[in-house]
Amino acid sequence: MSSNRRITRSDGSTIELAFTERSDGDFHIDAEPEGLAARRREVMDGTWAVVRQVHGARVLDAADIAGSAADAPEADGVVTEVPGQPIAVQGADCAPLAFITDVGPIAVAHAGWRGLEAGIVDSVVGALAERGATVTKIVVGPVIGPECYEFGSDDLDTVADALGETVRGVTSSGTPALNMRAAITAACIGAGVDDVEFARGCTACGDDGYSHRARQEPQRHALVARIAP
Ligand SMILES: [Zn+2]
Repeated sequence: MSSNRRITRSDGSTIELAFTERSDGDFHIDAEPEGLAARRREVMDGTWAVVRQVHGARVLDAADIAGSAADAPEADGVVTEVPGQPIAVQGADCAPLAFITDVGPIAVAHAGWRGLEAGIVDSVVGALAERGATVTKIVVGPVIGPECYEFGSDDLDTVADALGETVRGVTSSGTPALNMRAAITAACIGAGVDDVEFARGCTACGDDGYSHRARQEPQRHALVARIAP
């Protein structure tokens, strides 16, 4: 079953987060609509605002997103300040991120290495700042670990140039790897957020989520968040 978190803020409001697991089924936005709607209802009530994820840095307000997958605009971050409005991202190796704020709006984002390099974390923190909120913490869902994420050396150089040498990891078989947790941490610190929590394990060698890399799975797990109504 999905794991849920409740985070109470200084103004008395509560942020609710849920990370789905493989046992909760497929949350790909193009999954068969009736089944998807039923799975979403079980995890969090309300019409989920989702986007078509493209490994970029664009952030949209849930108010500007229609409910259907066919109409989902291309973006990788979603923000809302409306209590009760669920906002969600999907993943299979890439990381789902929840942006916890002191007051007002919250956000979620989908971040793989291309998105991190494109500046998705900066972009979301900026969108929240424009709406008067400061990010106090970023909670990260299942993400592929370095032990499972063999990476070409040219691409690794590119990510290291953007986010620092800590992104260089080693796989369990001793080949060069991308350390996504280090890359996410560097991007968050770069955006002014030092408190980063990795709440879930590796998508590839753990049971938490789907893995495109390890098992060629087309399905997606979800991170959904809302300000409690
Ligand atoms: Zn792993």
